[in-house]
Amino acid sequence: MPKYKPSIFLVLYGSAKGKRHIIGWVIGLALVLLAVTGGWWLKQYLSAGLQPQSLTACYVHGEHVRLYFQDFSPQNVDLQAADGTVYRFSMDSDALNHGMTWIYLPDGTYRLFGDSVALRAAPGYEQEGYSLTRQGCNRYWRLYGSRGYLFLSLSTVDQLPEDVYDIIIDAGHGGADSGAMNGSLREADFNLQAALYMAELFTEYGLKVALTRDGDYSVGQEGVAASQIDPYISGGRVDTVYASGAKYLISNHLNASTDGLCRGYQVYSSVRCDNRWAELTAAAWRQAGMFANNDFTGLVQDGTYKQYTQDDVQTGSDYYYILRECGGMATSPRKMLAAGIREERELFAGAEALLLEYCFIDNGQDLSFWQENWQALVKAAVDAAVEYWQL
Ligand SMILES: [Zn+2]
Repeated sequence: MPKYKPSIFLVLYGSAKGKRHIIGWVIGLALVLLAVTGGWWLKQYLSAGLQPQSLTACYVHGEHVRLYFQDFSPQNVDLQAADGTVYRFSMDSDALNHGMTWIYLPDGTYRLFGDSVALRAAPGYEQEGYSLTRQGCNRYWRLYGSRGYLFLSLSTVDQLPEDVYDIIIDAGHGGADSGAMNGSLREADFNLQAALYMAELFTEYGLKVALTRDGDYSVGQEGVAASQIDPYISGGRVDTVYASGAKYLISNHLNASTDGLCRGYQVYSSVRCDNRWAELTAAAWRQAGMFANNDFTGLVQDGTYKQYTQDDVQTGSDYYYILRECGGMATSPRKMLAAGIREERELFAGAEALLLEYCFIDNGQDLSFWQENWQALVKAAVDAAVEYWQL
């Protein structure tokens, strides 16, 4: 009987004798190697140009997290859990409040991919934060670099650190700065009244609330003339917001016009965000009987406004400093940085903010409405925020 090696190459060559025997083995071995490693070669071919991407910045705005890379803007960021489950975040909007949020993610550790490309982070890279207090708990999250890749870990904690708050409520003006006036009535006093009541209502929702001021004084600069008050100094309004670690900020104001004829509410939000929170607030105020003022620059719709700066700060950023400077790095807090009172790394996380103008204090009809309905208007703004945050 001829001695045949049990080889699949016999099928290809019909004979395993002589030189053809050796050629058959060589070619056959090559085919086997190709079959075994084919998947790897195909992957190399398909992923040509899709190199792992290194994180250059991570901006946290409110509870929303956005990742930035050099020459790479993924449409989707996938978070892969240890059990293989993948959670996808769409990144097809530039709005800061369309970033990733962890509200619905289970606790655990996730590896991050952007459009299926592995995301890298330098060893030692770390960014952390907390969600709002929901059902008495907070989610602590940490983005970090490990083994060259980017990971997220998420865990539930039963309280925030002592110096971290959910929300900070600003009572506009105060002390030497009375704000707008109507006779002896000062906007600063109404703002404080609104802010204190607002803080009380949010506390009832279980939130940890900070205030920029809780009395009639200039924030960080008592005894200084109104024209000398600087929100950028250490201990000033902007610094106070960052120091609170709050995810959200609501600044309370009453409006004034040059002729006392303007009426209605205005809601300002950052030009870098979508308009949803502002629109929910406007709708709640209409429900409470106030109407929109649509007469000013920057109107989006129904009394909601996005006003760009006209000054030297930066084209394309917010006009109102409380929106621009307190929103973290992504809203371009240039005056804050110039003042050098917070380190750059701290500014990567900022508060998503609304500036509320409830009505015009210098209009008699608006003022009467305010005096009779101010609590309903504050409560409406609180309810809108609670809806927006999905508390
Ligand atoms: Zn004001």
